[in-house]
Amino acid sequence: MVGIAATHLRALRRRDFIAGAAFIDGRWIASSQRDVVVDPATGEEIADVARCSAADVTLAIEAAERAFPAWRGLLPTRRGAILRGWASLMRDHSEDLAILVTSEQGKPLAEARYEIEYGAAFVEWFAAEGERAYGETIPSHKVDSLLQVRMQPIGVAAAVTPWNFPIAMITRKAGAALAAGCPIIVKPAPETPLSALALARLAEEAGVPAGVFQTLVGDPIDLSAPLLRDTRIRALSFTGSTQVGRLLLGGSAQTVKKVSLELGGHAPFLIFDDVDLDKAVKGVMAAKFATSGQDCLAANRIYVQRGIHDTFVEAFSAAMAKLKVGHGLNPATDIGPMTKLSVADKCRAQIVDAVERGARVITAKKDESLGANFVIPTLLSQVTDDMLIAHEETFGPVAAVLPFDSEEEVVTRANSSEMGLAGYVYTDNLRRALRLSERIECGMLGINTASFTGPPIPFGGWKQSGLGREGSRHGLSEYMELKYVCFGDL
Ligand code: NAD
Repeated sequence: MVGIAATHLRALRRRDFIAGAAFIDGRWIASSQRDVVVDPATGEEIADVARCSAADVTLAIEAAERAFPAWRGLLPTRRGAILRGWASLMRDHSEDLAILVTSEQGKPLAEARYEIEYGAAFVEWFAAEGERAYGETIPSHKVDSLLQVRMQPIGVAAAVTPWNFPIAMITRKAGAALAAGCPIIVKPAPETPLSALALARLAEEAGVPAGVFQTLVGDPIDLSAPLLRDTRIRALSFTGSTQVGRLLLGGSAQTVKKVSLELGGHAPFLIFDDVDLDKAVKGVMAAKFATSGQDCLAANRIYVQRGIHDTFVEAFSAAMAKLKVGHGLNPATDIGPMTKLSVADKCRAQIVDAVERGARVITAKKDESLGANFVIPTLLSQVTDDMLIAHEETFGPVAAVLPFDSEEEVVTRANSSEMGLAGYVYTDNLRRALRLSERIECGMLGINTASFTGPPIPFGGWKQSGLGREGSRHGLSEYMELKYVCFGDL
């Protein structure tokens, strides 16, 4: 019997999106070594893809080196035109791309459609930002001299990308690299190679020259080791777990690459007793359950002021009860499967640990026809700071509510994490909002909003949540070197 994902994939307009060849030096490479791609909702095999080798990585690096001078030599307006063409093709094929994303990643189709638009928007935004890499002129401290700071492309870049946003996490890196004038080699997550390969097809059609955007699929260690070793890779951008981020940072030390890391989060979500409860529930639903909870911005610790704790839990659980769990290709679905079984198992372990330590649990009964990758949205209340969920990233639809008494106390608890990616504060008190905007230790803070990402904002974290920024002019500078030039004797 053919499952729902395979049926949808067979009906794609772009059947070449599932051909499974890697894209190196402008050529489609079909290896005899193959890896399977599965639908995480059913475990069904839906495609297979080439397994690239370390030798393929070397070919890709050589091709990128060859392509670099001509690509950096193009006028930024010309690069921008090619990038806008790429974004436009993503939009033209958004339905096929969304089906690919849902089939291999599992997220609901409406969220996959949103991701395609989000992903295309990064390419489009960087197309313009590349035209504005102005540099500076410094008022001179020396007579008869002119001091300039130029921004120049750093060289060949590499990207190691995750499975939770298989399109947007590539375009957020590649849009910036290409706009800066750098070729990029992408190694996507093995769970979601089809989306990455489809992006390569569209880049080729948009006129991105051979060697400028390449996608290699295969074993993460086999492919990343030669990228790390090679002195020609000047920048490395990674999104994924803090554990792997540390390995890649260490591996880049030998060749002193410029490294940017988007790692795990453990976002505190503070709800004070002066807020409109409906707005807070709406915010927390968005911050917890987008991408079925598999989002580094996800609210991991929902701190609720004691006076409204019980009313909040009641309203929150009523909203959660409306979430429909199922296959992402079913239009009614709000929560799909976890992309990896290990992520679902981690959620279950956190629930068991919290309940053993005294948390109250509210969850719907699991539909037994759903496989092991599904986690039913679960609310844990009366969570305490010693529970696993209070300090380990969840990455799934399990919501932990922790009561608090005072502002001072909750700020200390919110900042006690080694992570510092996103944070949220809901309050109607302007002075408090201003105070907390200074005091919460994170790279991105939403005050009375749970929706704040997009191409113009600097996305990134403090502490062990990462290094550098993506999106915004800061994201472009990750792929550029500064050069100070002093003209003397004028
Ligand atoms: P991961 O860090 O293992 O995978 C991310 C990327 O790194 C993938 O491309 C993977 O193939 C690659 N990778 C894995 N091991 C590698 C290695 N030794 N050398 C080089 N590359 C390697 O993430 P995961 O295990 O799939 O997910 C585990 C946790 O990571 C999640 O529960 C979540 O906490 C976090 N995560 C965060 C994000 C994010 O958006 N920041 C995305 C995915 C996962």
